[in-house]
Amino acid sequence: MTAIADLYPDVRSIYVSFSDVDRFDPDLANYTLQNPTQSLRSAEDALKHMISHALTNPFVHFRIKDLPRDSRIEIRKLRAKHLGSFVSIEGLVRKATEVRPRVTIAEFECVRCGHRIVIEQEGMQFHEPLECSKDDGGCGRGTGSTKFRLLTDPSKFVDTQKIEIQEPPEGLRGGSQPERLAGYIEDDLSGKISPGDRVIINGILRSQQKGTQVKSTLFEIHLDINAIEFEEKEYEEVLITPEDELRIREFGEAPDLFERIIASISPTIYGYDQEKEALSLQLFGGVNKTMDDGTRIRGDIHIALIGDPGTAKSQILRYMAMLAPRGIYTSGKSSSAAGLTAAAVKDEFGEGRWTLEAGALVLADKGLACIDELDKMTDQDRSSIHESLEQGTISVAKAGITATLQSRCAVLGAANPKYGRFDDAQPIADQINLPPTLLSRFDAIFTMSDKPDAEKDRSLAVHLLRVHRRGEVKLQESPESITAVDTREILRDSAGLIPAMDREFLRKYVAYSKRIIPIMSDEAMRTLENYYVSIRKMGEGEQSSVPITPRQLEALIRLSEASARARLNQIVSSEDAARAIKIVEYYLNKVASDSGKLDIDLIYTGTSRSQREQIYVVRNMIQQMSDEKRGVSEEALIQRASSENIPDDRVRALLKRLSESGEVYRPQPGFYRLTSEERAR
Ligand code: ADP
Ligand code: MG
Repeated sequence: MTAIADLYPDVRSIYVSFSDVDRFDPDLANYTLQNPTQSLRSAEDALKHMISHALTNPFVHFRIKDLPRDSRIEIRKLRAKHLGSFVSIEGLVRKATEVRPRVTIAEFECVRCGHRIVIEQEGMQFHEPLECSKDDGGCGRGTGSTKFRLLTDPSKFVDTQKIEIQEPPEGLRGGSQPERLAGYIEDDLSGKISPGDRVIINGILRSQQKGTQVKSTLFEIHLDINAIEFEEKEYEEVLITPEDELRIREFGEAPDLFERIIASISPTIYGYDQEKEALSLQLFGGVNKTMDDGTRIRGDIHIALIGDPGTAKSQILRYMAMLAPRGIYTSGKSSSAAGLTAAAVKDEFGEGRWTLEAGALVLADKGLACIDELDKMTDQDRSSIHESLEQGTISVAKAGITATLQSRCAVLGAANPKYGRFDDAQPIADQINLPPTLLSRFDAIFTMSDKPDAEKDRSLAVHLLRVHRRGEVKLQESPESITAVDTREILRDSAGLIPAMDREFLRKYVAYSKRIIPIMSDEAMRTLENYYVSIRKMGEGEQSSVPITPRQLEALIRLSEASARARLNQIVSSEDAARAIKIVEYYLNKVASDSGKLDIDLIYTGTSRSQREQIYVVRNMIQQMSDEKRGVSEEALIQRASSENIPDDRVRALLKRLSESGEVYRPQPGFYRLTSEERAR
């Protein structure tokens, strides 16, 4: 208390813990929760008294923090009875406006007689004098015969900011949409919050009448924010008891640990063991590091699933979003202004101010962002998502707003192939509809194609039918009374669908594992080093491609660290390294192999070395064979190309690519010619 008397006006707030008030006087504590307006005003008056010897009418705040956990209210449970009371709400900041001044004490001058009138301003509505009152020495004229001029210099202002918070994703039941609440911040608290922050805000719930022209009996609610507390620990939300810890430790020792974890990831989805192993490593994550020079190296593992329709991509994404602490599921097509990244907007919410709004990648900070239909994201997202994937930040610079928001999350993205379905005749890498620069940020890229295959189809069918039948039986009220089928046998038969670790336990397991910061063992380092060098070796020599790049090495490191974490072990072993290699090799062989050889440029530049050479060959043919007017016909090109061992469909694909890049055009259907700039080269 003395601090504020000495340090005013630099310090204008005093913070008091609710439990201190409660210990001092439980009745007062209770009264404050029910009648915060009066209680806080009295406390502030007392404070003012202490410092008013030096100043007239100081502006101070009495702020209450640390309300007990059980007094927190979910946004969706706020009701009329809470109006006017002190509430504590936990949430994610979705929007925050610029900080702008609001007038609190307005001084006016009567333009006719020069008399000064002071009006205290409360709320958002601006109040002007109605008359130049004779009572305090004015001329007595009303608004009809005089005007009042606002004098900004002697008027008093306070900083204000408006924010919107939304319910944290953990509390949401099965995919329901988070609800939101607006809040007003004043004075020294302004500007401390950014979108994406996890906060607990305490304040007084107030109502505001709807409708400006025609007044309505309906009211909107908002919070007058009294105190903000930041949630620091990312895994604090998951409560781990000592009993849990024992069970977790025991589970971590299991010899079949990885099989059990894999079997706990979306067990109703058939197959995809390798993919599920990578997904589980993504949950555990690598180590985020900050080096001596301040460089940040990401530990988050990003995974892309690219596949035919109906290959359970969306299903997997939804499952992972529910499983991961701070998981968020969203679609690249999302309609909010902020999209996947962030945006500065000027809309109703800001009441004339610019608002910074957080998108999914910011809201998933320190969690997992599951982005479906990644290929359908907006151009704005496309240009700013790279920064998020690599640096874990998103920068916004628009109008007056320049901000850098945190988005340190792992990304699980899903997309369809370019033409909706993979075509066997074309290289897989050609059919991925994401810019290579974006793809190269993913630590693993899995392709899922849905080709009829009698054996696999039968297993999948049996699995899926079992899933459904188990679901049917589980809904029966009295399964014993059914005789036509053996319900007990059905349940026993499908017991494999019960996750080895239920979702709650797996969440706890993951949260617990994050406390471990693994260190690479000498053997693990050697394993990764040797693997990297041996694969790179294949790329030596003139005719060869670049098989992998340092990015894959980093992916291997992250995956190995995650594997050690999964084992609750602080040392990354050579088995962890081998597990990482297995995953990277598995996907590279599918997406980055060109006639049996690894070529990372397939995904990085969209063109393999052999394709690159063929493109020059075809381009030169067009140049040589074109006649002035008509260019050269497709048939003629195909015929000549076959003598160079370039197959028909490759020629067509290359012609398409050359047209798309603007190097050739079609003077008439079926004919090709280099564009004039190209001819001049
Ligand atoms: P996508 O997003 O890839 O187009 P969805 O996730 O919408 O596909 O899946 C379509 C449906 O097919 C879902 O109900 C899913 O459960 C089912 N399905 C697809 N593949 C499998 C599989 N391997 N195992 C079990 N169910 C599957
Ligand atoms: Mg889908």
